Amino acid sequence: MDRVDLRSDTVTWPTPEMRQAMAEAAVGDDVFGEDPTVNALQEAAARRLGKEAGLFVASGTMGNLVAILAHCGRGDEVILGDKAHTFVYEAGGIAALGGIHPHPVPVQRDGTLPLEMIRAAIRPDNIHMPVTRLIALENTQGTVGGLPLTKEYTDAVGEIARAHGLALHIDGARIFNAATALGCDVADLVAAADSVTFCLSKGLCAPVGSVLVGSHEFIARARRARKIVGGGMRQAGILAAAGLIALEKMTGRLAEDHANARRLAEGLAALPQFEVDLAQVQTNMVFFSLRPEVPITAYELAERLKRHNVWIMCMDERRFRAVTHYWIRPEHIEQTLAAIRQETP
Ligand SMILES: *Cc1c(COP(=O)(O)O)cnc(C)c1O
Repeated sequence: MDRVDLRSDTVTWPTPEMRQAMAEAAVGDDVFGEDPTVNALQEAAARRLGKEAGLFVASGTMGNLVAILAHCGRGDEVILGDKAHTFVYEAGGIAALGGIHPHPVPVQRDGTLPLEMIRAAIRPDNIHMPVTRLIALENTQGTVGGLPLTKEYTDAVGEIARAHGLALHIDGARIFNAATALGCDVADLVAAADSVTFCLSKGLCAPVGSVLVGSHEFIARARRARKIVGGGMRQAGILAAAGLIALEKMTGRLAEDHANARRLAEGLAALPQFEVDLAQVQTNMVFFSLRPEVPITAYELAERLKRHNVWIMCMDERRFRAVTHYWIRPEHIEQTLAAIRQETP
């Protein structure tokens, strides 16, 4: 990449190997189910996550939308985090397009929704109320710093879901970061879930796409929902070819990104102008803020850093987010810290 871009792991460019595979991909009409590369990606993703079937979708947002459309009907309710991507950052799609009622539960600092609050959010059989159908978790939970939810926690939520006849969906945009941080097998981690989405286009470097996995019967319904939202793509094998490399070659190296995030967080913690909670840095995200007395805004500092070819995201006047990924090497962390040291008054 041509800059040290720490704003997000969505900025990653495809690798040369991906571009090559895309150029040579075998393709067919995927709406007819005839694209061999899409089919290979869907099967590989399902196998990897321990589910029966997969569905290639254009984005993580589309994956969550078609999953929730497949689980819920109009007026049904989904219990999810009040800081969940689906609740905050997906333009209200489940309500706008599905008539699905979100029931937010407060996300804790560790990324969990308290089990007792999930239980309390489940509606009794009462004609005044919406019908609860689904619980949705996010792993890693982005807004609290990319914290991984454990298998034990996920299993406990799965038990609540089963006891009440509900489904469990996991927005696993960064599920491989979670499995890496926890040192566990990704299929084990999501064993309790009926459906899972993960992004190919974040830390895994593919240019486009996510995969939704679940049972054969669920994926058949999700395929129809994908068609409804205009997500039936044709020779999508061009994109899936990069996705296969993302899945097979990029999931095993995420610990490098986590080590770089740690390096950055520790470098920032050593500077008197910044506050960073090292306990919240467990995957590839670092949230940090300017101390109140520092006479510069986050926006001004971010502008100054661009002169050093370093790009960081501002969350507000005082707070930043930096996300490490494939294109960020240890020397870029040093470059970033040097620029921050030089530019922060
Ligand atoms: C990025 C992200 C998504 C959506 O992915 P897009 O491909 O940007 O639509 C969904 N959930 C979480 C937690 C994400 O971080």
